[in-house]
Amino acid sequence: MTLNPFTNRQPYPSPAPSPPSGTTTIDRTGARSLTVLASSRAVIEGELTAATVVIDQYTGKITSVFHSVLPASDFPPGTSYMDHSPHIILPGLVDAHVHLNEPGRTEWEGFYTGTRAAAFGGVTTVVDMPLNAIPPTTTVAGLKEKVQAAQGKCWVDVGFYGGIVPGNASELRPLVEEGVRGFKGFLIDSGVPEFPAVSSTDIALAMTALANEPTTLMFHAEMIPPIAASVGDDVQWSLPPLAPIGPLNEYATFLASRPISFETYAIAEILSLAHIAPELPLHIVHLSAIEAIPLLQQAIANGVKVTAETCFHYLSLAAESVKDGDTRHKCCPPIRSKSNQDGLWEELTQHDGCIKTVVSDHSPCTPNLKLLPSSISSLGTTNAPHTTDDGGESERGKGDFFAAWGGVSSVGLGLSILWTEGQSRAISIEDVVKWCCKNTAKQVGLEGQKGDLAVGFDGDVAVFDDEGAFEVGEEAMLFRNKCSPYQGMTLKGVVKETWLRGQRVWERDGRGFGKKGPVGKLLLERRCEKS
Ligand SMILES: [Zn+2]
Repeated sequence: MTLNPFTNRQPYPSPAPSPPSGTTTIDRTGARSLTVLASSRAVIEGELTAATVVIDQYTGKITSVFHSVLPASDFPPGTSYMDHSPHIILPGLVDAHVHLNEPGRTEWEGFYTGTRAAAFGGVTTVVDMPLNAIPPTTTVAGLKEKVQAAQGKCWVDVGFYGGIVPGNASELRPLVEEGVRGFKGFLIDSGVPEFPAVSSTDIALAMTALANEPTTLMFHAEMIPPIAASVGDDVQWSLPPLAPIGPLNEYATFLASRPISFETYAIAEILSLAHIAPELPLHIVHLSAIEAIPLLQQAIANGVKVTAETCFHYLSLAAESVKDGDTRHKCCPPIRSKSNQDGLWEELTQHDGCIKTVVSDHSPCTPNLKLLPSSISSLGTTNAPHTTDDGGESERGKGDFFAAWGGVSSVGLGLSILWTEGQSRAISIEDVVKWCCKNTAKQVGLEGQKGDLAVGFDGDVAVFDDEGAFEVGEEAMLFRNKCSPYQGMTLKGVVKETWLRGQRVWERDGRGFGKKGPVGKLLLERRCEKS
């Protein structure tokens, strides 16, 4: 016998959340007030199980979760009920590292296009990085401009990071009050002039300012080791520091210019300062070099609160396969060797490894800045003007890994990228949910709201066909500029539907994005005191 959830005992009862004030009360037993998503396979609180998830359409919150597939007849007439068996119901992904670039560089990406691309891939929350938009999010005024630019354009929920730059320590606590989810600083040139790198002195100031705040301090951990003022007797004859050694269109030349030591040196520098704010969570974004892992493990063993993320591209692409001139693969830190990739997977799959999360670091630009040679296939067109930095249509300068913008475009493709790569690595769907939903939500202070399917959480759901496959063509790259190293690849695992707080925002085999328009919210509630 199946219990009727509205007349009998509920496995996970919970009072319905109060409706927002200032609105009329609705009849909770009435038609069309519930969304019910069921499947013989769902990831609930980290485990694969049959489930029926009940979402209050009014609040957007999950009100009940049953560990079985209940029939539609158990719910009031008019309930929006769907049994998705055998597709997997997952929590919507939380991509905690995305560059949306609006305002200021909206031709690179924007809230509308970037969040549509996210929704396409089952991502229901993105957190926007503080740089590449103009102004950057390094002041409260900058955040307010960004929030203004984002209004009404977001297909999924969007949170914001603040930035650490020289001289802005007094802005950091006000930014916490305004709801930023964390902060990021660079220890090396960021690529844009309005977001300069920080010194150790700046980091110390930021740590002091944020020491007792509910936030996370994150770093782009590459750093050029300082060169001693004297190199002994040969000082008079020493050469200037490194120029690229080798052809500029060969990936090996680029890789050699961003050595492992840049990452290990930067991480050692950050860890050496951690004592300034022992309670402040630190986080290394886009960890690439496995040689940094022992440093992080040792620090964690010594009680330092530090975590790391890696990216879909470091786990799926390898230096050996990058063709000359294929600047779609340029990012910093660089995509390294296949054996390095294996090492990242090994750490990621450790129960207590230091790499807790996997994110996209979606960082697009216009095709002209990518300097992609015409010989490398490009499926897409672009909304960007057809001007180029190198004087028109000529191939001059194309394929130059040093002059090309660094960044990989992949928001919305991550679930399928991981699932494809994971086929040969015995990865479970629960693993993916842990890295891309639960742990990313925790990193940005959204645990309890995002990243799981449990009572009280937002009804954010991805419906995933783990047996399906698709080729990454233009229709699968909904970000503004259709330029990505995944272009033309066949990926395993297809997101069929994406639900945001109980509303379907994307349906692959049907209405697409539908007529409701962007219903994403800006996540600007101040982070709670302690997680
Ligand atoms: Zn980034």
